[in-house]
Amino acid sequence: MRNIYLDHAATTPLDGKVLQAMMPYLTTAYGNADSRYALGRQAAAAVQSARDCVRDLTGGSGGELYFTSCGSEANSWALKGVCAAQYGKRNVIVLSAIEHPSLIRAAEDMAPFGYETVLVYPDGLGIVQPHSVEKALSGRAVAFVGVMRANNETGVVQPAEEIYKVCKAAGAFYFCDCVQAAGAMPLGQIADGISVSAHKFYGPKGVGALWLKKGAHICRLVSGGQQESGLRGGTTFVAGVVGLAEALSAACRDMHDNNCRIAAVRDEFVARVLGGVKGAFVAGDRAHRLAGNANIAFPGCRGEQIMIGLDMRGIAVSTGSACSSGASKPSSVLLAMGYEEDVAASCVRFTFGRENTSEEAAVAADAVIAVVKELKERGSL
Ligand code: PLP
Repeated sequence: MRNIYLDHAATTPLDGKVLQAMMPYLTTAYGNADSRYALGRQAAAAVQSARDCVRDLTGGSGGELYFTSCGSEANSWALKGVCAAQYGKRNVIVLSAIEHPSLIRAAEDMAPFGYETVLVYPDGLGIVQPHSVEKALSGRAVAFVGVMRANNETGVVQPAEEIYKVCKAAGAFYFCDCVQAAGAMPLGQIADGISVSAHKFYGPKGVGALWLKKGAHICRLVSGGQQESGLRGGTTFVAGVVGLAEALSAACRDMHDNNCRIAAVRDEFVARVLGGVKGAFVAGDRAHRLAGNANIAFPGCRGEQIMIGLDMRGIAVSTGSACSSGASKPSSVLLAMGYEEDVAASCVRFTFGRENTSEEAAVAADAVIAVVKELKERGSL
């Protein structure tokens, strides 16, 4: 059976060149980056060069770059660490209702310490409007604002620049989860804090980064050695951070060409599916969207059954964020956008990547059309 992978928002395959760049640090150049002899200095130099590279490609030289084990860690650390650093002064957390669970749950963890969380809902197209953020900030002592760059389920790109202005005016720390956006769109000076994760842009799993504006206060995450400026102790995953830098550099270098190709393949797929399934539509704003993302609603069907039908044909798709697709509840992101439960539960997320071809798009679209037809005929909706 032929396999077609259309779940690049969940994770991406490791790029061969990235693996090549990592290999020395997994084999011959195995030194601990904190050791003072040659092998250690070699590792430390690789870590420093990876740090400079990732810092420049995320928030830039006006900030510090800390390596983490993943995007979830960077997000949770940012929220808890920034709030804790303002303990007793500011106790309100403002999050968009479409944030990743690593921020939503982290905010819940802060409740016993006296932090209140205010959720900001997106509009029907999945966009968090700056004026809604402004309203949430008004009259409150806000310690942390979290609105992501691009949503993991709809791919809808958020107006981070405008939201940053609103936060600056209120003196609130603005954090932008860029895990889906990194490598797919330029980042730059869009927030006080930014998170990325290597496995979303053809890098290795198990490594991410947190960029923080210079002077931002954050509490220590891991007590121990002096790694990550003494804020996150623990021996550095040298091969991982080298892979993160290599993958992000390649993604940023080839961004325009990749996006053009990926969006063209995605659009062919969407046109074919919408032409073949009556009533199907794309969820969320189509103009402000990552190149690879298509979240399609199939009213009258259950997304989960479509996903299973496609899996049986060798096609990998998702019905929500990978972290929550084990649960059969409709996506909280789509519900927050105002979709009825049954429509939200009918959605399937197709996310295209560099290796997908036009031919794969056609095969996958025909499979979607066939699966939906079968489900409707069986009456198992
Ligand atoms: N933030 C967003 C928007 C994501 O999509 C994800 C993962 O899907 C994460 C954070 C968590 O990243 P990681 O898998 O590296 O923990």
